[in-house]
Amino acid sequence: MIKSHESIRNLLQLAPGTAVTARGWVKTRRDSKGVHFIQINDGSCLKDLQVVMEADRAPADLIAKVTTGACIRVEGEMVESPGKGQAVELRGHSLELLGAAPPESYPLQKKKHTLETLREFGHFRARSNTFGAVFRVRNALAFAVHKFFQERGFLYVHTPILTTSDAEGAGAMFQVTTLDLSNPPRLPTTGAIDYSQDFFGKPAYLTVSGQLEAEIFALAFSNVYTFGPTFRAENSNTPRHLAEFWMIEPEMAFCDLTGNMELAEEFLKYLITYVMDHCAADLEFFQQRYEPDLLATLEHVASSDFVRLPYTEAVKILSQASRQWEFPVAWGNDLQSEHERYLTEETFRKPVIVTDYPKQIKAFYMRLNEDGKTVRAMDVLAPGIGEIIGGSQREEREEVLVARIRELGLKEEDYWWYLDLRRYGGVEHSGFGLGFERMMMYVTGMKNIRDVIPFPRTPGHADF
Ligand code: ATP
Ligand code: MN
Repeated sequence: MIKSHESIRNLLQLAPGTAVTARGWVKTRRDSKGVHFIQINDGSCLKDLQVVMEADRAPADLIAKVTTGACIRVEGEMVESPGKGQAVELRGHSLELLGAAPPESYPLQKKKHTLETLREFGHFRARSNTFGAVFRVRNALAFAVHKFFQERGFLYVHTPILTTSDAEGAGAMFQVTTLDLSNPPRLPTTGAIDYSQDFFGKPAYLTVSGQLEAEIFALAFSNVYTFGPTFRAENSNTPRHLAEFWMIEPEMAFCDLTGNMELAEEFLKYLITYVMDHCAADLEFFQQRYEPDLLATLEHVASSDFVRLPYTEAVKILSQASRQWEFPVAWGNDLQSEHERYLTEETFRKPVIVTDYPKQIKAFYMRLNEDGKTVRAMDVLAPGIGEIIGGSQREEREEVLVARIRELGLKEEDYWWYLDLRRYGGVEHSGFGLGFERMMMYVTGMKNIRDVIPFPRTPGHADF
């Protein structure tokens, strides 16, 4: 195991003269005038360690195997580097080949690959500069999520991944079964599949959201959050949708939509600031390679007030815009990506929180406004990606909730415990969901959601 003081990140901080052992995977090797220059990386930072080795220190047949992707161990001494790009380098005294990577078959040679090609090599792409940076940022961002909520006294709750309620209404679900699909048991009467013989005695699914269970915990612990995997059988191949993604869902008792919006804004700014403070080198890399405006945009978002815009106002702005919409703008229609982007990128040029959507395009549990037509919903839209957060104040009035459930043709008995939360000790409460990968796209500037999750699952793709 590499101890933290032996990581390349640490070795690069050492004073010249220190004896060290370094391990890592070879990025490149260059031979010049009887000296080998070997760049190695161990994932601890973006920068490689340059190993400089005189030819007589290692046999030629060994050096020949030190090729891109190979794993090596080098003992030597840190010295001042005469080259550009690093203050110190490692003068190697001895080298051991831990794992060869035959160049005739190793797929990731030193030339640059497209992100699409790298996706086909999900088992090696983490060794590239880009994915090294992506997954270091992802690690920091996940930590920042917990730090934010823990500093504010929120309780971390693990909501279930397997669920038998197909009722959240948030998206198409993946069914989970142990029945023999080639010969499922059937009801004698109708011939329909007999789910009483399935593992849970009824149909089961992978969760699309932990919200309803988080509400149970909010009405006991006041402020709670979930942070876990969610699954949606979205058959849409977009750069913003995955079939498996991670979601953060805070839920707060004694909190209305205004408090909800304030928390969402504070949270997003906190995450951005944390990553800027802790992943500066990686963000500079993204800026240089992928998104020239990245740091300016992040700084701008972290320091500006988010716009708060009722849906009805948003529709007014959109219908007065002089442009052809692919999807028609009319009160009652959901906002599409083109509309969201227009608001954030052209009208306001910063994040916009759209509130009070028509009830017919939002979930049954959102609190009905006095107008009887709109609900206390909020979507946070961000320039470049559109919707990043969806949330609402929840309907805490039992009669109104029951009426909504009936109106939508849902079954009251499916929600018995959810309604109990209103019958016994119910109180005003609110929450939202932030898609972790959408946030990753935002802070890295990566344009495809497949490139910010270690192993993307999308229609037709679940490799590695
Ligand atoms: P969209 O309109 O973008 O499909 P949604 O309205 O289905 O989003 P919600 O149900 O409100 O989204 O989910 C909360 C958050 O989860 C969204 O704001 C988004 O950040 C994220 N999210 C939703 N669906 C996906 C997905 N398929 N892949 C990745 N993130 C997602
Ligand atoms: Mn969706």
